[in-house]
Amino acid sequence: MNTNQDIEKKVKETIKRYKLCNKKEKILVALSGGKDSAVVAYLLKKLGYNIEGFYINLGIEGIEKDYLETVKELSQRLQIKLHVYDLKKEFGNSIGIIIKEIQNTKEGKNLKNCAICGVVKKWIMNREARRLKFNKIATGHNLDDEVQTFLMNILKGSPQLNINSGAITKNKKDKKFVERIKPLFYCDENEIRKYSKKKKLPIIYKKCPYLVDSYRLEVREFVNNLKTKDKENIIKNFELIYPKIKNLNSKESKTFINYCEKCGEPSRNKICKMCKLTESIKIQNNLIKK
Ligand code: SF4
Ligand code: ZN
Repeated sequence: MNTNQDIEKKVKETIKRYKLCNKKEKILVALSGGKDSAVVAYLLKKLGYNIEGFYINLGIEGIEKDYLETVKELSQRLQIKLHVYDLKKEFGNSIGIIIKEIQNTKEGKNLKNCAICGVVKKWIMNREARRLKFNKIATGHNLDDEVQTFLMNILKGSPQLNINSGAITKNKKDKKFVERIKPLFYCDENEIRKYSKKKKLPIIYKKCPYLVDSYRLEVREFVNNLKTKDKENIIKNFELIYPKIKNLNSKESKTFINYCEKCGEPSRNKICKMCKLTESIKIQNNLIKK
């Protein structure tokens, strides 16, 4: 089987097996300018799903314009509507400044750039997808990303952090929470790269300057050298031990029980991660409006 058929088949099977989405639903695809999200959008469109694109302009100095242009080009090519969220306009600052400010607080001092950025992006995506009445959010996470995260959590001795991994978010259904899906869950990074090149998708290869998590990069290098079969086996093993992890009575294994007292977003605790992190920095007032 060639890469084309292989990846398309894997995505179809993943959608079917995990019941990721159906053709009546409205799916918002989180676009970054990179190959993974471009391939997700391309394949979902090709398979006949009702998709629109979503891009968060993080205000990354020097490269943001190229990212935005790439995402616009992709949306035009796929003939999908593109929603652009401007972080600077909404929060008053770019992601670089927000990360620095959060790292200067007690709550955020030990957090890596991507961990903070991830919280901010997830918070925005959920709120915007709900406001725009989407049923699902599709992201470009691939097999390599999943294996990296799984191994990092195991190596840190925190298997419970894997509780929310999977091709679809495992939280209890909630009217304020938009489920996130990963159609490339079983697709190897190399096959995605080849496929994106074959389809000549507009993609940007410049790396985000805030990606400096050396531990993740080390694990990434290790995962890069594994065969696809090995990566698949790691994920299959995770699925086997999932019920055990679920029974570890940790805070991560709690499903959403609450809405954040400050912003009203779904949260496992009284105050959501986003509000906790941004509590003592300047953006708080602009941001939290129920
Ligand atoms: Fe954010 Fe990290 Fe992605 Fe940069 S690499 S956009 S900091 S998550
Ligand atoms: Zn909150």
